[in-house]
Amino acid sequence: MKYQTVVGLEIHVELKTQSKMFCSCSTAFGGQPNSQCCPVCLGMPGALPVINRRAVELAIKTGLALNCKISEYNTMDRKNYFYPDLPKAYQTTQQYHPICKDGYLDIEIDGKKKRIGITRIHLEEDAGKLIHDTDNSRSLIDYNRAGVPLIEIVTEPHIGSSDEAVAFLDELRKILLYLEVSDCKMQEGSLRCDVNLSIKPQGQTKLGTRTEMKNLNSFRAVQRAIKNEAQRQKTVLEAGGEVLQETRRWDDLKDESIAMREKHEADDYRYFQDPDLMPFLIDSNMIEDIKNNMPELPAQKRERFVSEYGLPEYDAGILTSSREMADFFELSVKLYDEKKGAKAAKTVSNWLMGELMRLTKELGVELQDLKLSPSLLVGLLKLIDQGVISGSMAKDVFDEMCQSGKEPDKIVEEKGFRQISDIDQLRDIVREVIQENPKSISDYKAGKKKAFGYLVGQTMKKTKGKANPQLVNKILQDEINK
Ligand code: ADP
Ligand code: MG
Ligand code: ZN
Repeated sequence: MKYQTVVGLEIHVELKTQSKMFCSCSTAFGGQPNSQCCPVCLGMPGALPVINRRAVELAIKTGLALNCKISEYNTMDRKNYFYPDLPKAYQTTQQYHPICKDGYLDIEIDGKKKRIGITRIHLEEDAGKLIHDTDNSRSLIDYNRAGVPLIEIVTEPHIGSSDEAVAFLDELRKILLYLEVSDCKMQEGSLRCDVNLSIKPQGQTKLGTRTEMKNLNSFRAVQRAIKNEAQRQKTVLEAGGEVLQETRRWDDLKDESIAMREKHEADDYRYFQDPDLMPFLIDSNMIEDIKNNMPELPAQKRERFVSEYGLPEYDAGILTSSREMADFFELSVKLYDEKKGAKAAKTVSNWLMGELMRLTKELGVELQDLKLSPSLLVGLLKLIDQGVISGSMAKDVFDEMCQSGKEPDKIVEEKGFRQISDIDQLRDIVREVIQENPKSISDYKAGKKKAFGYLVGQTMKKTKGKANPQLVNKILQDEINK
C-alpha cells in the first residue's frame, strides 16, 4: 500500500525585544545565569505583569506577512502545569483569542507553488532553562530565559514531505529576518520547531493518528525526523499495529525518535483567562501603522529582481536570501550603471553568487563580516572594464579587498597587477614569440587550431600573466596573417 505523509508544524520564535514579555528584564542571550530576573518573571506572590507593547507589534507584523487576520479582541490565558523551569506553575499564553488567525504562506517545491495554511499565531512566554550536571548528579536552573516573548506559529496539516517542511521553514525564517522580528538563531534556540506527523493510505481524506516530536533545532533535524518517523509509522501499520498518539523525542545523534509520553488531552492544562492581565484591543490604526512600515518581503523582492533587472529566477533567489545581500546587490548595480542595464545587473550578480559566496564559505563568515562595500566592488568591475586588470587578477584583488577594505586600484598598484594593454609593447613581445616558435606557426597555418592557443600561452608567460588576453589574441592574429 502507498502512504502519504501529513505534517503540521508548531514553530516557536523568540521575539527581538529589549525586555521580557511582562517585565523589564533584559532578553539578552548568554548572560550570567539568573542575572536577568525579577519578582515578575520568577513568579513571586503579588508581582503583577504588564504586557510588552513591542512584542504585540512584532506578532502583528508577522501575522500580516503571513496573510493572517489580526484579532481585535485579545486575551492572555494561563496554561497550568508544574515544571522546575516554570516558577509560576503556569505559562501565560493565548489559548482562546490568538492575535493572528487564518493565514497562509506560499512555498515553491520543484518549480511548483504550494500554499500552506497558517492556523494561528499566538503570543506567549518562554520558560527557563534546566542544565543537567550529570557529573554531580544534579540539575541547575537558569531563569534568564523565563518570560522571554515568543510567538508560536501553528500550520495546518498541509505539509506533505520533509522537503516541503524545509522549504516552508526556510521561507518563514527569511521572512522573520526581513521583518526583524527575531534573529532566528536555531543553535541558540530562538527558532524551534515541533513536528506533528501522521500517515494515511494514498487518497484517503481522513487523517491518521499523529505523533509529535518536540524542539527540533536545525533544518537537518526536521528533515531527518520526518523521513524517519514516516517510515516508523509505516512499519507499524504494515505489521498490523496501531500508531499511538504520543510525544516523541528526536535524538539527532542516534538518528531516531524515542517515545516520551502519551499525549495529554488539552484540558489537562486547566486553561483560563489570566485575571492579572486585562483583555486588550488592537485597533485598526495600529494595524495600518504597522502595514505602512512593512519592508518588501522576500517573495516580492525575488519577483521584482526578475522583472526589474532581468535576472534568472535562480539568481534572484540567491540574491534575496538575506536583506543585506539584496541591498548590497541593488546599491552596486546603481553605482555601476545608473541605467540598471540587465548586463550590469548580471555582472554584479555573477560576482556576488560566485566569488563572494566562495569567499564567505571559505572563511565561514557572512557578507556583513567582510570589509567589502558596493563602491569597492564597483571599483573593481570598472578596472576590469577598462582593461587595467584581467578577470583572473581581479579575483585575487577581490579576496584582498574583502579582507583589508583597501581600494582596488591601490591593491593593483601594490601587487604590480596592472595589465599590459600597450599595443606597441605587446606587439614586440608577440613578434618575439613568433620568432621563437616557427613550428607552431607552420602547424597553425596547416590547420592545427590548437597551435594558436599555445602561442597565446607563451605570450602570457613572457608577461607573467599581465598581458591583456583580448589584445594578445588580436595582435597575434594580425602578425600571423601579415
Ligand atoms: P496541540 O496543541 O494539542 O499540539 P493542535 O490540534 O492544535 O494540537 O495541532 C497541532 C499541530 O498538529 C498543527 O500544526 C496541526 O496541523 C497538526 N496536526 C493535527 N492533526 C494532525 C494529523 N492527523 N496529522 C498531522 N498533523 C496534524
Ligand atoms: Mg502541540
Ligand atoms: Zn523579570
